Amino acid sequence: MTPEELRAGLDAWIGREGEPSLARDAVNPAMIRHWCDAVGDENPVYTDRKFAAKSVHGGIVAPPTMLQAWTMAGLRPPAPASARPSPLSEVMRLLDAAGYTSVVATNCRQEYRRYVREGDLLSVTTRIAKVSEEKQTALGAGRFIDEEMIYRDATGEEVARMTFRILKFVPPAARPAAAPVRRRPRPAQSHDNAFFWQGVAAGELRIQRCSACRALRHPPGPMCPHCQSLDWDAIVSAGRGHVFSFVVAHHPPVPPFSYPNAIALIELDEGTRLVSNLVGIAPADVAIGMRVRVEFTRVDDELVLPLFRPDPA
Ligand SMILES: [Zn+2]
Repeated sequence: MTPEELRAGLDAWIGREGEPSLARDAVNPAMIRHWCDAVGDENPVYTDRKFAAKSVHGGIVAPPTMLQAWTMAGLRPPAPASARPSPLSEVMRLLDAAGYTSVVATNCRQEYRRYVREGDLLSVTTRIAKVSEEKQTALGAGRFIDEEMIYRDATGEEVARMTFRILKFVPPAARPAAAPVRRRPRPAQSHDNAFFWQGVAAGELRIQRCSACRALRHPPGPMCPHCQSLDWDAIVSAGRGHVFSFVVAHHPPVPPFSYPNAIALIELDEGTRLVSNLVGIAPADVAIGMRVRVEFTRVDDELVLPLFRPDPA
């Protein structure tokens, strides 16, 4: 297949909407409650029927970010009702055939038209908005695919839209062997969390603090979840806390991390929690509740990370 033939094949599917995929369950309080439990969202408009009835919504609504949960097909999805190929599966098939067999998700953006309410039965359709020309990326040569998922209620009204960008790329095994320098991924830095990484560079573990109600919060964000104030400053943590929870990753091994890889949720003595790696301890010896202290660790020539070490004292 020549690049021109591939381009023509891809273009034939761009802009076409696939068959709608219907939610298995209508929007319901049980799924909402489990979601809120899992992410720690305590807004009563999602879970307290009386509170929700008196709110501007007039009843239970679902957290907007729960969008994708409603139309998930389950662990063993049934065969599609239609035998017609979907635009997404056809684009994937063409790219696989052209050698772009690996895939990684790169961006996700959601836009909400309205809150979804208890009883809404959602469906989603997928449209390929764009397939880029071949780009050289850190992962190799690949093409970006912009998928647009349109969520609708039972009347056909659009309730939300999600743009999902993936990179289909030529896997390393298919490329001539080179010795790539594997470094840890760079932290995603933004206007909201720049102070945190500036703190790390200065040897300080900073915690964002609301200027209005003084509540501490992490990860950093623009608004206080307690009082909705946009004003904030930061304090410097004493760098001590305990292991609130942890996982030990064994597979798949991703360079340059070493495995088994102990990843912990540290609860600082100031009360906020952050995810980090543990050092100076065998993964098998990690235990919930163990005392730890921060250790600013240079992991490569330009990256310092706040890692945590057991602190029996
Ligand atoms: Zn506040």
